[in-house]
Amino acid sequence: MSLIGHTCDVIVVAAGRGQRFGSHNPKQYAHLAGKPVLRWSLEAFAGHPRIRRVLPVIHPDDRDEFLAGNSGLTLMDPVSGGTTRQESVLRGLDALSADAPNFVLIHDAARPGVSSALIDRVIDGLGQAPGVVPALPVADTLKRVDAQARISDTIPRTNLVRAQTPQGFHFEKILSAHRAAKGLELTDDAAVLERAGGMVLTVPGAERNLKITTPDDLARMEHELLETRIGQGFDVHRFTSGDHVMLCGVRVPHTHALLGHSDADVALHAATDAILGAIGEGDIGVHFPPSNAAYRNAPSEKFLAHAMTLLGQRSGVLVHLDLTIICESPKVGLHREAMVASVARIAGVVPSRISVKATTTEGLGFTGRSEGIAAQAVATVRVPTNA
Ligand code: MG
Repeated sequence: MSLIGHTCDVIVVAAGRGQRFGSHNPKQYAHLAGKPVLRWSLEAFAGHPRIRRVLPVIHPDDRDEFLAGNSGLTLMDPVSGGTTRQESVLRGLDALSADAPNFVLIHDAARPGVSSALIDRVIDGLGQAPGVVPALPVADTLKRVDAQARISDTIPRTNLVRAQTPQGFHFEKILSAHRAAKGLELTDDAAVLERAGGMVLTVPGAERNLKITTPDDLARMEHELLETRIGQGFDVHRFTSGDHVMLCGVRVPHTHALLGHSDADVALHAATDAILGAIGEGDIGVHFPPSNAAYRNAPSEKFLAHAMTLLGQRSGVLVHLDLTIICESPKVGLHREAMVASVARIAGVVPSRISVKATTTEGLGFTGRSEGIAAQAVATVRVPTNA
C-alpha cells in the first residue's frame, strides 16, 4: 500500500492519574528538563511533517494545567478521557471520526522520549499492516515467581518483545475494533486490533522512548534527553583613568578603571561568551553590538542574563561556570565570595555552581605590565540533545 497522500493524526493519551508515581501531580504534568512531560511528546508530534493533527486526551480536572503547560503548540482542542485508558482512546477516536484520517497513531503521554525517526518507522509500517507497534527485544531472563517470591518457571525469551507507543493503525480498523471491545480492559491498542483479528507488525522501538512510571524514571529520562556541552569565553579590557573596576558585577575599588563601551566587566563578558559558546549562539558582540548606543555604560549583568534566557529557551540548564580573572591587581581574593554570590544571582543558580579564581602572569605580558585585565570562563551546560 502506498503511503503517498495519506493523512495521519495522533491521539496522545494523558488522562491517567498515575497512582504509582506517588505525587499529587499526575506524572504527565511533572517537569522534565524544564517542561511538562506531556509537552515533550506533543512537541514531537506537532513538529512532525507527516502528522496532520494532534489530539490530546486529558482528565477534565487537568484542563487548566494542560493549557498553561502547552501554550504555543498547534493542537486540537483536548478531549476529556474516560475512566479507563481504553475508554479514553475510544473518545479520542470518536473525536477524530468527523474528519477521519487514513491513519492514527496512539501514544502514551508518559513516553516523552519519542523521536521523529520512531514516528516515521511506525507510519512507514502502516504500508504493510493495519497495525504497527514499536518493540524492543527482551534482554533480561524472564522468570515466573509464586506468592513467596520463589521461581516456578523460566520463560524462554525467544520471540518475546516489549511493546511501546506510538502504536499506529488504519483508522477505520482500529475505530471499529475499539467499538467492538467497549467495556473490556485490554492492555494496549494493539491488543484491541489483535482481538478483532487485525495483523499487527512490529518495528524497532527505542530505549530512549521509555515509559515514565516512577520519579526515578524521570531522573533517568532527564539524563537521556539532555546532553552535556562545554563553552569557553575569553575577554580583555584595558585600564583607563578611574577609581574602580567592575568584576563579576561587584564594584572593586582600584587605581584605574576598565575601558569599555559597557561597564567593561571583563569577567561577566567572558562568562557570557562561555554560555553563548555552549549553545552555539555566537558571541556577546552579536547580541549586543558596541555600535548600539543603548549598551553604553550598560551593567554587564544584562549580557549574562540574556545568555541565560537563551539557554532557558532551549530547556537547558547551567551545570557549572568556572571563571579565571587574570591581573596583577586589584587583588581578587578579598572579593571572591561576593563575586561568586553575584554571578550566582545573575545566572539564577546556587553559588556552588559558580567558581571564581584569580591568577597573575608573574609580571609578564600585558596583564603583567598592568595594562589591563583578562578573564577566561568555562561553562558546562545540559541541553536537550536535539536543541
Ligand atoms: Mg568585553
